[in-house]
Amino acid sequence: FIAGLEGLKGRPCITRDNFRIPLWVNTGLMTDVMRSLDRGAEGVGLYRTEVPFMIRERFPSENEQQEIYRAQLQAFAPSPVTMRTLDIGGDKSLSYFPIEEDNPFLGWRGIRVTLDHPEIFLVQIRAMLKASAGLNNLRIMLPMISSVAEVDDALHLIHRAYGEVVSEGVNVQFPPVGVMIEVPGAVYQVSEFVKRVDFLSIGSNDLTQYILAVDRNNPRVADLYHSFHPAVLYALQSVVKDAHAAGKPVSICGEMAGEPLAVVLLVAMGFDVLSMNATNLPKVKWVLSNISVGWAKEVLSKVLVLDDAKIIHSTLELELRKAG
Ligand code: PEP
Ligand code: MG
Repeated sequence: FIAGLEGLKGRPCITRDNFRIPLWVNTGLMTDVMRSLDRGAEGVGLYRTEVPFMIRERFPSENEQQEIYRAQLQAFAPSPVTMRTLDIGGDKSLSYFPIEEDNPFLGWRGIRVTLDHPEIFLVQIRAMLKASAGLNNLRIMLPMISSVAEVDDALHLIHRAYGEVVSEGVNVQFPPVGVMIEVPGAVYQVSEFVKRVDFLSIGSNDLTQYILAVDRNNPRVADLYHSFHPAVLYALQSVVKDAHAAGKPVSICGEMAGEPLAVVLLVAMGFDVLSMNATNLPKVKWVLSNISVGWAKEVLSKVLVLDDAKIIHSTLELELRKAG
């Protein structure tokens, strides 16, 4: 197995029936970047910009942010780096920007915070755009979107920030913009979102939590948290179908994209990119290099008629074992 992994290093991920599956990584700190490059990541599907904010005592200035983002973009150039705008609230807090709420996961988080504070959003977008000058490998992604109006408002601000930096003489292309699908309501609005943005990415950690109403961090209900729940699988499949109907790509950047059993279903559904923790990348590459998408589709059709997450899980294990 280890020898197999070494042999795959530095090579693209290609299934037995010759489908090339782009494997990207999720990053936060510069240390993630080094690990990711070492493991042969082909891009960044989720750079969690709140991480550099969380390790500071105050909001980083526009110049500081520009430097932090430049380092990420430069390390991966010319490969794409998907920067998610600040996603605080819920389980992610800043000591210098406290949010006190009874129900933080249903409260003020992600895009809701930054649309209420356009000055924070604009500084961040300006810093991202300036950082990408000359590299042009930036993609911008919006977290916790639950309505078309939020997409329109965010796009309006991104265009404004772009106009500002261009008028300051910065030579930069307008980046692709995407929406995260991580709120159940967003699943039903994909056809509207794709008219406005360039790509979608499913945040399966939050999407699972909200579809099943199970706190992703509460050990008491942890055995109810199942990414293989039929309702979650139907939602994933529906997002891919509606996005592809409009010719727009969809990636997935939740933990699920780094689970060897789950990726069989994800490639069968037609995800264009899988973005995962760098630790899981070699394992996922190994699994996908040893299966065919045709076989994965057969497995998917078998599990989609099952009605229980645990049975789906054990069926997947069995099918993979049978396949060797
Ligand atoms: C997710 O919700 O799946 C996701 C990728 O974002 P985060 O884990 O940062 O909330
Ligand atoms: Mg999320």
